[in-house]
Formats: sequence, structure tokens, C-alpha cells
Amino acid sequence: MSFPGLIRLGHPKVPHFRIQRAYSHGIRTIILNPFTMVSSRRRPYATTTADPALLLNDFTRFCYQRDLPRAMQAMLSMQRYGIWADCITYSELLKCCLSRGALHEGKLVHRHLFSNGHRPMTFLVNVLINMYAKFNLLDDAQLLFDQLPDRNVVSWTTMISAYSNSKLHRKALELLALMLSEGARPNMYTFSSVLRACNELASVRMLHSVIVKDGLESDVYVRSALIDMYSKLGEQKDALYVFNEMVTGDRIVWNSIIGGCAQNNDSDEALNLFKRMKRAGFCADQSTLTSVLRACTGLALLEMGMQVHVHILKYDEDLILSNALVDMYCKCGCLEDARRLFSRMKEKDVISWSTMIVGLAQNGYSEEALKLFDHMKASGTRPNYITILGVLFACSHAGLVEDGWYYFRWMKKLYGIDPGREHYGCMIDLLGRAGRLDDAIKLLKEMESEPDAVTWRTLLGACRIHRNMELAEYAAHKVITLDPEDPGTYILLSNIYANSQKWDRVAEVRKCMRNRGIKKEPGCSWIEVNKEIHAFIVGDNSHPQITEVNSWLNQLTHKLIGIGYVPDTNFVLQDLEGEQMEETLRYHSEKLALAFGLMSLPNGKVIRIRKNLRICGDCHVFFKLTSKLENCSIAIRDPIRYHHFQDGRCSCGDYW
Ligand code: ZN
Ligand code: ZN
Repeated sequence: MSFPGLIRLGHPKVPHFRIQRAYSHGIRTIILNPFTMVSSRRRPYATTTADPALLLNDFTRFCYQRDLPRAMQAMLSMQRYGIWADCITYSELLKCCLSRGALHEGKLVHRHLFSNGHRPMTFLVNVLINMYAKFNLLDDAQLLFDQLPDRNVVSWTTMISAYSNSKLHRKALELLALMLSEGARPNMYTFSSVLRACNELASVRMLHSVIVKDGLESDVYVRSALIDMYSKLGEQKDALYVFNEMVTGDRIVWNSIIGGCAQNNDSDEALNLFKRMKRAGFCADQSTLTSVLRACTGLALLEMGMQVHVHILKYDEDLILSNALVDMYCKCGCLEDARRLFSRMKEKDVISWSTMIVGLAQNGYSEEALKLFDHMKASGTRPNYITILGVLFACSHAGLVEDGWYYFRWMKKLYGIDPGREHYGCMIDLLGRAGRLDDAIKLLKEMESEPDAVTWRTLLGACRIHRNMELAEYAAHKVITLDPEDPGTYILLSNIYANSQKWDRVAEVRKCMRNRGIKKEPGCSWIEVNKEIHAFIVGDNSHPQITEVNSWLNQLTHKLIGIGYVPDTNFVLQDLEGEQMEETLRYHSEKLALAFGLMSLPNGKVIRIRKNLRICGDCHVFFKLTSKLENCSIAIRDPIRYHHFQDGRCSCGDYW
């Protein structure tokens, strides 16, 4: 006898040793079915009676005892005698089939329920549909659904969420439309599943209005699904609107809105909401804390992140939280804490490894990152897209051109990962650093997808360092075409023209900027002191201690000049504007933040600064010298990379 999807192997010691094929996410794997292995040694159930009451009694007992083989045998006997049990017992049996991955048995139950012209209740048919959906057999589920004479809201919702969970968005929406046209009324579960299937703003808005019309907007799950979807589509205002409409709170809804803000990089709002949530008396759970950590990571708020870490201690073994913590410490430049946490993690997945490798690479610990990559491979974890990005980044920073080429050329073959835009970007950065601009441009032209502004900006960076004006001009034009709102590139281009005295070109670029209404945002730096964020902006004197900060900065500058510091006023290949030059050079925001850090933080504490613009050449020299003179460690995170200054050197190797 053979069953579809089932292989029987005649093993001498275990006669009914079965291998069950399980279908998960479309990948066919063969797993052992431990249950059948064990129970096959038991005495099989043999019916000697045709007494329906006894048979039913046995069947019910086996179902609740989760003795699948004997339940199946009893069921087949019942079938012979035309006896059926109650709905709840069958639903127990189907639950058991599902949890054991016993698809064949599930199909037998299905057949039994429809045998001899018997018609099971809608409730039970819904359980069957759900079973097929969970086995990822959507066609079977749909077939059963189509045969249903009286489909109820649960049937519709089961089918819709099956499509929604399988990311078959259109199918889910079509089914909802059909449901409405047949006059069935969706409930909150229908809406929350179908909402999660939306990937277009128009559909979310349409559903939102249907939900309001049906008066279901106050349901916790619907509200949270609405917030999630608006956030996912980047419509944070709508998400907040839905959130603020809420009268009575619920943790699920709080988590949705905090998660949405963190996801959309609105870290300030996420942290504000977290504070409000605590004040409103709600306890944070793993989901809240992961989002809050992400928000802290976004703002490089180490102190705040450490407070969250204390909350997390009770979820010590939570993988997602641990990964978020490692990421937070890496992004705040606290490599020691990140390393410690990472090494203590009992369970590590590809995200843990990748986070640590990328963190090390971005912070300038290239060799360590590559060593960790070897450990990862040895542990048997398969690298993913991000891991390889970290590896290339490390190769680039360490100047390991050949290694970089090796991984880039072989990533597809070795790990089955197609090189994406980011990998090309890393390689262009690597070649650019090594001064191989020709190779870099060759690679850029080789890209399968059109290079974007980020990729051209990488090449532009290389041109800046190697002072290749001609190529810089070309790359800058490309950046402006692709990203006409990027003020830095206009300024850089105008500086290039000014240097070669092409004044008409300078005027052209300036006019273009004016016409497009593009202004360079002022430089702003943030530093966290005593759990408070202090912001410094060029030319803004609103900080309460600004006079003191300025005088500290002046003294520091004098001391540095004493050891050979010369303000760097060569702006040709920098994106600094007139007013940012010369006079204000002394008061660039990161210098103000540095002075404030030196005067307010205890000795020996790392000075951590976050900046909105790239650090200029002059500040870079200034920081290197300060780290030596004041014997301190300074970490700066700008939008592109990290700089760790210590003992007169920077981790970026003067290339940024
Ligand atoms: Zn500067
Ligand atoms: Zn640097």
C-alpha cells in the first residue's frame, strides 16, 4: 500500500519506520515523524466489536490522548460502520495531525468526514481549510472553500489570512471583494489579516474607510494592523492619527506605533511614545524593547540604550533582543560591550553574526571582522547578503584589494548570493581607496542595475581623496542628475569649478541651486551627557553654556596650534560653503560638541558625537590631534561612517 507524500521503509527493527515529507515555505524537506516511530512498537488497535458506543468511546479517548495511529484505526472502523463522532473531537484530531506534520492522516480525516455522503458542519470544514493552509497547500484549501455550501465569516477569514500569510496580496484582496459582494460581513480578524496583505497605500485607505463604516476601528487588532500598514508604507502621520484616536490603550497598539516610528527612523517620536506608554502604566515587552533599542541605535543614545539593556536582562535568552542590543552597542561605537554580549550569546543566528561583522568593519576593526567571518563559516552558519557586505567593507578598510575581489567574484558560487548594488558600492569604495579609479569606473559600468546616486557618490569620494578633478566633475554631475536635492554635491562641484577659475560654471551651479531652492542644512552635532542630549549648531548660540564652550574651544585650538595644528583651508574638493569656511571653521558643530564633552564628561570616558553632515578635513585633523593631546578617545558617527580617534589616529585611515 502506498500513500502520496509518504515513503515506507522496511527496516528490520522498526517495521513501520516512516519518513514523512513535510512542506514548509515551499522547500521540500524530509523529516522523521518521531511519533509514528515510537507508537508503532505499541500494540495496534484492533476492533473486535461493532458496538458504536464503544467504538466512539475509544476513538474519542485516542484523540484526546493524541494517540494518532490508534485514533486513525478507530476512525477507519467507524467509517466502515457509518459512525461519526462530534465536531470537537475531530478538531482535536486535526490539531494533532497539524502539530505532528501528519498530512497523510489529515487527508484521511478529510476523506472520512465526507464518506458515505456525510456532510460535516461548517465549523469542521473551516478547521480542515485551516489545516491545508498551514500545510501550505493553498489549492486544496481553496478547493474545499469553493465546495462549501454555507461559508461563514470564519471560512472567509481563514482563506484570506492563508493568502495574506503566503504574501499572495492580490488574492487576499480579491477574496475580500468577493466576500463583500456576496453580502458576508467581515469581522475584525478578517480586516486585520487583509490589511497585512496590503502593499499599496490606496488599498489601505480604502479598507480604512470600510472599517470605519463598519464601526470596527476601535478594535485593538484592527487598529494595530492599520498603524503597522501606514508605518510600513512610510505614512507615519496617518499611523499617528490612528493611534491618537485610541481612547483606551492597549499594549499591542503601543507596540505598533513605537515600532512604526522606529522603523521610519523617527527615533525621537518612538522614545517619546515609549515614555508616554510607561507613564500610562503599560509594561514593555520584547517587541517594545526591540523597537526602543532600534530608536536608541538610530540616535546613538548609549545611556538610554543601556537603560533598556537593564530591562532586557529578564529576557536574557531572547535572540531578537540580543541581536538588537549587539547592533545598538556597535552603532554607538561601544565595541567592547558588543563583543562581550556577542560572545555570551548561547544561540546565534546569521543576523547575530552579520551584525557583529558589520559592526566591527564599520568601526574600523577590519581584521577582527574577517576573523569573525572565518569563525562564522566554521560554525556552519551560512552567510547572507549583509554578511558579505560586512566582509567587503572590512576588506575595503583594511586595503585588502585581492581578498575583496575574491569574495565579490565568488559570492554567487560560494554562497549563492547575487552581488547587489551595495556590494558594488563596497567594491568601488575598495578600489577607490586603493587609488584604482579606472578599475572602479569599469566596475561601475559593469553593474547590472543602473548605478544610483549613492554609488556615484562613492566614486566621487574616491575622486576627492585622490584629487582627480576631471572624474570628480563627471561623477558629481551624475549624482546631481540622480539626486537633484543633494546640496553637498552642488557645493563640491562649484568648488571644483572655482579652483580651475571657471567662474561662469560656478555661477551656473549656484543659480541651479537657487532655482531648485536647495540649501545646505547647517551642520549639527549631538552629544549625550548625563542622559541628556545636547545639540550644537554652527552659528547658533542657544546652548546655555555656549560662552564657556567657546572659551574651552579657543583654549584647545591654541594648545593644538602649539603642537603644530594648522587650520586646513583647502576647500577645493570639500563640500563646504563660503560661510562654513575660514572664520566659522573654528566653530564647526563637532568642535563645539567636542569642547563640551571635554569639559563635562569625566576623564577616561569616550566622547561620543553624532553628526548630520560628513566631517570636514580640518575637523578630522583637529580631532586626531586632540585625541593625542588630551589622551582621550573620541567616536564620531556621521551619516556615512564612524571615526574612532585615539592616540592621534583615526580608524578610517584618513579615508572617508
Ligand atoms: Zn569641520
Ligand atoms: Zn576618520
